[in-house]
Amino acid sequence: MPGVIDWAISASCGRRSATLPAMTIDFHCHTTASDGELSPRDLLELAQRSGVTRLSITDHDSVAAYQALNPLPGLELIGGVEFSTLWNKTGLHILGLNIDPFCPAMLEAVAFQRNARLGRAEKIAEKLEKYGVVAPLEGARSLASAGNVGRPHFARHMVATGFVKDEKEAFKKYLGSGKSCDIRQCWAEPEQIVAWIRAAGGVAVLAHPAKYNLTRSKLVSFLEAFKGWGGGGLEVVSGIQLPAVTRDLARLCEQLDLSASWGSDFHRPGQSWAQLGRYSAPPQHLTPVWHDW
Ligand code: AMP
Ligand code: ZN
Ligand code: FE
Ligand code: FE
Repeated sequence: MPGVIDWAISASCGRRSATLPAMTIDFHCHTTASDGELSPRDLLELAQRSGVTRLSITDHDSVAAYQALNPLPGLELIGGVEFSTLWNKTGLHILGLNIDPFCPAMLEAVAFQRNARLGRAEKIAEKLEKYGVVAPLEGARSLASAGNVGRPHFARHMVATGFVKDEKEAFKKYLGSGKSCDIRQCWAEPEQIVAWIRAAGGVAVLAHPAKYNLTRSKLVSFLEAFKGWGGGGLEVVSGIQLPAVTRDLARLCEQLDLSASWGSDFHRPGQSWAQLGRYSAPPQHLTPVWHDW
C-alpha cells in the first residue's frame, strides 16, 4: 500500500502537532494503566486544557483507568480500550470504543489479556537476559507499577541500565516488530476480541492500519474477515500522518463500508508527533464511528 508509515517516519514526517489545529475529539490515548506517562486524572486535566470535549482512554488491554474516574466539566468520557492480537503472524491493535468498561465481557477480556501480558513479559525477559540485560522482568514490572507491563517498559529499563542509548535503539534492535524479543503468540484471537467488544456494547476499530507494514491485499483480507466477525471501523488518522496515507485509508473505509475513527495515540507530553487532541486533518466525508452515539 502506498505511503505506509512506520514509527520512524511518522516521528519525523515534518509536522509538529503544536502547529495543527486543536481537535475537540480524541479517541485514542494512553495512561499509566498501560504505557502512558500521565495518570488518568492528569490526562483528563490535559484534555480539558487542550480543548478536547470528547475523550476515549484506550489503554493497552486495560480498562483500569476508568476506575473511580470522575469526568471533568465539559469533557465527555467514552469507554475505550486497545487490544493486542495476532493475525497471520502480524501483531495488530484493535480499539474497542463506546464499551462498558466493567461489564462481564470486558472484565473477562482484560483478565485474559493481562495474563497473556504477564506470560509474555517473562518470555521477553528471558530473551533479554540472554543478551545481557540485568533484571529485565523486575525492572519492567517496577516501571509499569500497577499498570499493564509492555515492551516500552522493557525499553525504558534498558535505557535506565545503560544497555541502550535510547528507547528507539531498544525497539530497533530487540523489541520492535519482527525482532527477537517481540513475542506475539500469546494474545486472544482477533475474532474473540471483536466478540468481547461487541458484547461490551462497543464498536471494534482497527487501530493505526498504516503501522503494520501489511500489503494492501493483506490489509483488505484482514478487514474483510474483521467485518465478518462484526468489526465496524477503521482508524483513518493516527497522530500526524502523510495526507496520502489519510486519502488511502479513507478510500479503504468507503470501499469496505466501515466507519471511521481518529485520534492522537498520545502516550506522553513531549512527543511532538502525538500530542493530545492534535492529529492530521481527518477526511470530512466519512461516517464517524460515533455517528449514532
Ligand atoms: P506492547 O503493548 O507491549 O506490544 O507495546 C506496544 C507499544 O510499544 C506501542 O503502543 C508503542 O507505544 C510502543 N512501540 C511499538 N513499536 C515501537 C517502536 N518501534 N518505537 C517506539 N515505541 C514503539
Ligand atoms: Zn503504547
Ligand atoms: Fe497501538
Ligand atoms: Fe495506542
